Amino acid sequence: MTIEPLLLSATRRHDTHRVNIGAVAIGGDIVPIIAGPCAVEAGYVEHAVAARRAGASALRGCVFKPRTRPGSFQGLGSAGLPLLDEARLVTGLPVIAEPLGGEDINLLRGHADALLIGARSMHNTPLLRAAGQSGMTVILKRGMSATYDEWLAAADYITNEGNRQVILCERGIRTFETATRNTLDVSAIAVLRDMTDLPIAVDPSHAAGAARWVPSLAVAALAAGVDALLIECHPNPAESMCDAAQAITPVVLSRIVQTAQALCAMTRPAVADSVSGCRAVIDTIDDTVFRMLEYRAAVVEAVQQHKLAACLPERDVDREHEIVERLSRNAPRLGDDRVDRLVHAIIDECLDAVRVWPQAVA
Ligand code: PEP
Ligand code: MN
Repeated sequence: MTIEPLLLSATRRHDTHRVNIGAVAIGGDIVPIIAGPCAVEAGYVEHAVAARRAGASALRGCVFKPRTRPGSFQGLGSAGLPLLDEARLVTGLPVIAEPLGGEDINLLRGHADALLIGARSMHNTPLLRAAGQSGMTVILKRGMSATYDEWLAAADYITNEGNRQVILCERGIRTFETATRNTLDVSAIAVLRDMTDLPIAVDPSHAAGAARWVPSLAVAALAAGVDALLIECHPNPAESMCDAAQAITPVVLSRIVQTAQALCAMTRPAVADSVSGCRAVIDTIDDTVFRMLEYRAAVVEAVQQHKLAACLPERDVDREHEIVERLSRNAPRLGDDRVDRLVHAIIDECLDAVRVWPQAVA
């Protein structure tokens, strides 16, 4: 049984192919966020813990780094593999890592839960074939000047090896614009739904190239119906050894995770075909409802201060009556009496919450 979403939702397929990164399902009702520093570096396990605390569902764990300039940090290489093991153990989260060549796939096996094929490698057909043969989940990034058709043809190199555990990842394309590192092609999310049943991820970090633009691009991708996000996050972005300018902090990451949850709850048809399925949907809705109630209480606090300054009474019966009437029209199936009871409970509880509101921590 499917329940229609509350708000206008992006076009979705009912037959999106489910792909797993460890125990995390991509292409389902929630949008998992894969996060971590650009490259695995000293302190990686703490970076991974910070990403998990912020709500990441999987970790970036790139030990081999494709860099434009040979003098740049190329990643820790095999020496970083024990850090992947430790991060997996400590956080319980699966890890994704990028092989630069076929030999790296063998090195990563057992240490990573999915292979990331970077934009520069999308045309490397021997690597695509080897990734397909590995049987591991593959996140295939779009080459920076690849058409949808060329990108899907690259995916065919993997699936033709009998491996359909493939996620497509839009990461921005090269255009005439130079302000951003790349131009995020949000259309890809909508158009690829008509071309493939493979799940679609977006990497807003390599599209933006600047941390302050990452949330906007992430929210755009979420609104367009993306299946997963891949985000660079570092507890001290300035100290990041690679792509420092585009790394967001765990605080910003947690805001993106909350936004993803709220948007999913409001824009995705709920698949309510089992007790556990319904409970998962209810949990997401409750998370959003309670965050909104807390937010409402904060606005109530502000309105009370204005009322105090204007010598207005704490409560206004006419205003409360108007609210009940409006919400009865908005939610007719709840019935007038129930709306009346709920509205008054919410008003009472918000006023009460503000009275005992904990002082903001500086
Ligand atoms: C990456 O995600 O680590 C990366 C190198 O990005 P891209 O391949 O999209 O440039
Ligand atoms: Mn990077």
